Amino acid sequence: MQTTQWHERAAQLKIDGRAFINGQRVAAESGAVFDCISPIDGRNLASVARCDVADVDKAVVAARSAFDDRRWAGLAPTERKRTLIKFADLLLQNREELALLETLDMGKPIKYSLSVDVPASANCIRWYGEAVDKIYDEIAPTADSALALITREPVGVVAAIVPWNYPMIMASWKLGPALAAGNSVVLKPSEKSPLTALRMAEIALEAGIPAGVFNVVPGYGHEAGSALALHMDVDCIGFTGSTRVGKLIIKYAGESNLKRAWTELGGKSANIVCADCPDLDAAVRSSIGAMFFNQGESCNAPSRLFVEESIKAQFLEKALALMPSFQVGDPLDENTVMGAIVDGIQLKSVLSYIEAGKTEGAKLLSGGVQQRSDSGGCYVSPTLFDGVDSSMTIAREEIFGPVLSVFGFSDLQEAIRLANATPYGLQAAVWTSDLNKAIQTARALKAGTVHVNAYDEDDMTVPFGGYKQSGNGRDKSLHAFDKYTELKTTWMRIG
Ligand code: NAD
Repeated sequence: MQTTQWHERAAQLKIDGRAFINGQRVAAESGAVFDCISPIDGRNLASVARCDVADVDKAVVAARSAFDDRRWAGLAPTERKRTLIKFADLLLQNREELALLETLDMGKPIKYSLSVDVPASANCIRWYGEAVDKIYDEIAPTADSALALITREPVGVVAAIVPWNYPMIMASWKLGPALAAGNSVVLKPSEKSPLTALRMAEIALEAGIPAGVFNVVPGYGHEAGSALALHMDVDCIGFTGSTRVGKLIIKYAGESNLKRAWTELGGKSANIVCADCPDLDAAVRSSIGAMFFNQGESCNAPSRLFVEESIKAQFLEKALALMPSFQVGDPLDENTVMGAIVDGIQLKSVLSYIEAGKTEGAKLLSGGVQQRSDSGGCYVSPTLFDGVDSSMTIAREEIFGPVLSVFGFSDLQEAIRLANATPYGLQAAVWTSDLNKAIQTARALKAGTVHVNAYDEDDMTVPFGGYKQSGNGRDKSLHAFDKYTELKTTWMRIG
């Protein structure tokens, strides 16, 4: 579609910002709303219900009642499968509207909302739907005098609290396994990007997911989010967000009913390119592409790049040659690959990290400036720093924006030590032609995922999550069911 057509569609959108509780759109009990501002041009997209403790309680009551009467959990897995697949199909049928909402709400290029965010979300829901009637329970290897069944049961009411960077995908990583297992869900999207979650709930109802099974309470973290995490009738919380808030979530679980608390948190991922890397061009493309995808607002962005000194100059030359293809543009232009930063607060934070990099002595090779200021939106050019020292702020803290720090190394063991010298442990990569070196490095790196001669290539079949302060538990793959089910032993005496 032409850029002007996307703008026309955006101008015509009628956006309903009310919460979705028990199968219905409802205003917040208090009547309060907040403005949903587009980072593309500063336009107010909608007045969104500002849910607080009263609305959260209403949503949890609806979810509990749906769970207790087994209107969803009591269906045969094949029935839940059919409905989830229909849900996935309907997400795809509404692809353009959902993609437009996602782009307007958080600023990512429409090209990727259409080709990544909506299809990946639908694929996730479909994958768990298809899996759920293929999982068998277990019989324990006991003596003949007993029969012991090990079965999985849904945990009950699941709260999902998600961030703004991939609003639909992050919601789907929780919804897919939680709903497939038979739970009821109360989802709190980020206050910075609440719109697609609300539409997803309407579409789920249309697909046949019963009222009360999937509720959405938009609002602020300290109001709706903490009310959910502290709620005595929430059995489990699936959280994705910052490490700072992840620590609060675990504290809230301890202060309330010790609900199961699963956290997918921040990252500062290390990407190690050795001189014997099999294809330098591929390493450059992949490292730069994964770094600047989604404006660098990815938890697993390879933001610390370690390049062996003997190839560093060549690597940087190729990287700099690629930078013009990551220029910032209008997110509603289908050719744009770098869109807007989610809001003014995040833009200010990214710019302050760039300033810190310059003041602390890193060498700015590319970017580092605000762009498209006359648009009224929030844009910053992709930024590359060389000569970064591991004591610098940009080397230590998660920036969550398009800022890449490059380090040189001559001793691989030292590079591994530095790669691990962070509180985070989400992802890492090593590029080498030497199989032994690849395996030994992958084993030594403390991260939930280590890529070898690749970055950010995966699918639904593999777990996603972190070591250390990048969180606990895993999203994606069959392992995600562990978070949303309880294991029950039924021990029967025979004879
Ligand atoms: P955030 O922690 O500020 O917010 C995440 C969610 O928590 C939002 O919905 C927010 O409203 C809510 N929240 C905030 N304060 C809360 C409180 N006191 N109680 C309950 N809920 C509260 O994170 P963000 O800025 O939205 O997202 C960026 C962070 O998310 C980055 O650190 C990024 O690395 C991380 N992230 C991690 C993964 C992963 O899979 N590991 C994926 C995406 C993003």
